Amino acid sequence: MGEIRPEQYQLVFFFEGTDVSRQMLVEEFESVLDGFVPLVDYSGRKCQCAFLLVNPDLTVDAVVFFHLGFDISGRPDLHWNTPIKQLACQADITPTLSRVIRIASYSNCSIAWHQQKLWEPFVEQVEAMVQCVKSNQLGLGQLDRQQSSTSEIPALQINDSAQPVVLTNLADYVGGDGFDESMLEKQRKNYEQQLNLKSLEIGKLRDQHNELLLQLKSLEGRFEKSVYEKAQSYIEKRDKKWQEKLGQAKQYILQQNRLIKEKDAELESRTQMHTGDESLNNAAGNRFAQSGSSQPGSSQNSSPQNNNAMLKLMQDQGIKLQVNHPGIGSLHIPYEDVIEYLAAPMVYVANLRGVRPEDYAAWLQHRKNPRCQGFTEDGKACCEKIDPVSDLDQFVPGHSDFCQHHRMEKPQNESLA
Ligand SMILES: [Zn+2]
Repeated sequence: MGEIRPEQYQLVFFFEGTDVSRQMLVEEFESVLDGFVPLVDYSGRKCQCAFLLVNPDLTVDAVVFFHLGFDISGRPDLHWNTPIKQLACQADITPTLSRVIRIASYSNCSIAWHQQKLWEPFVEQVEAMVQCVKSNQLGLGQLDRQQSSTSEIPALQINDSAQPVVLTNLADYVGGDGFDESMLEKQRKNYEQQLNLKSLEIGKLRDQHNELLLQLKSLEGRFEKSVYEKAQSYIEKRDKKWQEKLGQAKQYILQQNRLIKEKDAELESRTQMHTGDESLNNAAGNRFAQSGSSQPGSSQNSSPQNNNAMLKLMQDQGIKLQVNHPGIGSLHIPYEDVIEYLAAPMVYVANLRGVRPEDYAAWLQHRKNPRCQGFTEDGKACCEKIDPVSDLDQFVPGHSDFCQHHRMEKPQNESLA
């Protein structure tokens, strides 16, 4: 591994095709990297560059072929960090070239993870680079040689037009056969002045740069805050809308539930009333049907004449009406009661048993299906299974046919007996 010797020149070349389009000392390149001097002709481009270590005799010792990108304003990529000096020191002699130059390139990179940052030159580009160094447009080593010879001083040139440093052809200051030291001293002072001015300018630019960065950060902060506030406001509005809709939906559901409960309760009470009526009337209807008659009350066959005829027939034939009812058992219906019985058997039986017909109906219902007749708080029928009361005398309507829970709410009636 080599090292950069103090007498070596460090240069940076920019390539355009196979030609060198721009050359500068490494110090100038560093100020380009700082972004103070934008290179507008490279705006938005990725340039092929080379870092060269040049010997005092203007032969190239080592070269690193690297890429450098520029943004649209001509400032270099801020993240560029290719270690060109390290790569130059580690570069190997490339056997494919006739010249003895150590080269670091895409195909010959000593640090694997930097390979992508390098490029592979054509032989023509290497030749152009070598010729460029030889022609010494940067005026390398001139002052050294001026002291030994005044006849071969080439012109000093600054490549970058953005640098208005006053550099004049040194030959102008060389008079006839001698060297004008006072003019050289004047020129040196002039350089120093220019250098001081540039330093001040760079300092100002750096301050401006920092100030702009601060402004940018503040703008970013404000922008983020504004975006955040807008998002927050949007979310709040949306939440509010949802809450409103949710409230409306809840109201609707509650209303519907209330309606359903009312309907349920109504239906339940109707069913009960209907069941009671049916229990009272079914038996009579059935018996009429069995005896070949139509239902009682029908205009055709239940006229007194028909009834009397039927009773007469029964008496003549010795037919007796023997019926069986829960709570009363087997019962003989006298001829004079047959019509009354057939008209409403349950009422007849209830009267005979000394209970109200509706209570008798309730007991029959309870006997058939012993479940609570109460309602829950939300209006639904309770229907809880309860102990059946098989003895009509022990049955207390509103008490015996209710569960423990709902029975408590009802006043205790007396038993039917
Ligand atoms: Zn109950």
